[in-house]
Amino acid sequence: MNWEDLSQNPLILNNYELLRDSGILNYIEELKEDNKAQDILLKEAYEIFRQESVDELVSLIISYLSDKFIPSRLTFILNEGIMVNRIKILSYENLKSIETDAEIKSLEGMERFFRKYSGTTSFLILENEMTDRENLDTFRTFNPEIVVPVLGISGLYGVILFAPKILGEEYSAKEIAYIDRLMHFVSIGIQNTIHYEHSVKDPKTGLYNHNFFIHRVNEQIARSRRRQQPFSVIVMDIDKFKNFNDTYGHLAGDEVILNLARTLQKTIREGDILSRFGGEEFTVLLPYAGRKEAWQASERLRVSVEEMVTEYQGEILKVTVSLGIASYNSYEKLSENNLLKRADTALYQSKKNGRNRSSFFKSGLLQHAESFEDRAEE
Ligand code: GH3
Ligand code: MG
Ligand code: MG
Repeated sequence: MNWEDLSQNPLILNNYELLRDSGILNYIEELKEDNKAQDILLKEAYEIFRQESVDELVSLIISYLSDKFIPSRLTFILNEGIMVNRIKILSYENLKSIETDAEIKSLEGMERFFRKYSGTTSFLILENEMTDRENLDTFRTFNPEIVVPVLGISGLYGVILFAPKILGEEYSAKEIAYIDRLMHFVSIGIQNTIHYEHSVKDPKTGLYNHNFFIHRVNEQIARSRRRQQPFSVIVMDIDKFKNFNDTYGHLAGDEVILNLARTLQKTIREGDILSRFGGEEFTVLLPYAGRKEAWQASERLRVSVEEMVTEYQGEILKVTVSLGIASYNSYEKLSENNLLKRADTALYQSKKNGRNRSSFFKSGLLQHAESFEDRAEE
């Protein structure tokens, strides 16, 4: 039934006053509004399911809420690790992102609570009922009034804390109903993105993993052939890392790898794909870079690592990396495997020539042999 048609119906128009006085017209108006709200919610749900990362998803939710009401504080506490705890806190004051130094190690206490009370709840109830008091003080710093659990197949993925509204008015029943409905979709969306991220990322550094990198290089080869555009890959490896581990210990080495991942991530440009290819090997895909741009990128990365300092148990640790670069030209018809082999050959040159340097793959006899191999593959 279409409400628009109904309000044009002559029978209704003739009895307009009667219908109005009996309250039926208001009721129809309300239904119409509910209908519109459902439509909007469905569109929002669709967008929520399309997001690839938790951060993108959270920004989207912020944009939806800003049309409706403004919580003085809104905080997402999400466990991005599935088998291990990796808790991330995203907090917003008046819907603007703010830094927080709060730390939460585990959501186990919350999980126990929400196994009993699975829905949206008030913080007061949670405060009274939660047996595990350890994190409650930290939660209080976010001034929560409403607590929404993100529950799914792996248990509790996190909670979303709504502080009172910006002007101190109460949340209306309609707003709470909206939060409750939207958050059902958000819960599923968050689970999707967490599981997706796990399938494409290295759990330790959060960088893309080997498989995802290979997949993106293959995609780029296809695109590059179609558009006849070059692109480049860089392979890098930490210098003398065995010695480093022997001197400072494996844990110090792990800390350096983490810091290196952060440094490289900050140094690459938007659109570049950085991956942890193996233990202490990293790769970068530069989607539109020819030889010159790739060389500049490689040197930027090398210098950023050279300048990087890692503090670990009172010691100042430093490492360097060697890099190998190979560019793809659409006319050569290289496979992804041979492109990476070329970058590896260049990396080997960097190691041989003294480390802490970049080298470009140079054509020679080796390249000819490979090109034949590639043609044979096709
Ligand atoms: P080169 O300059 O020739 O690369 O020397 P290297 O000692 O770095 O040699 P290679 O790259 O073959 O050795 C890699 C070393 O990196 C061996 C391994 O123990 C260490 N490594 C690999 N992954 C990790 C990791 O996740 N953490 C730590 N701490 N060490 C790692
Ligand atoms: Mg290595
Ligand atoms: Mg090495």
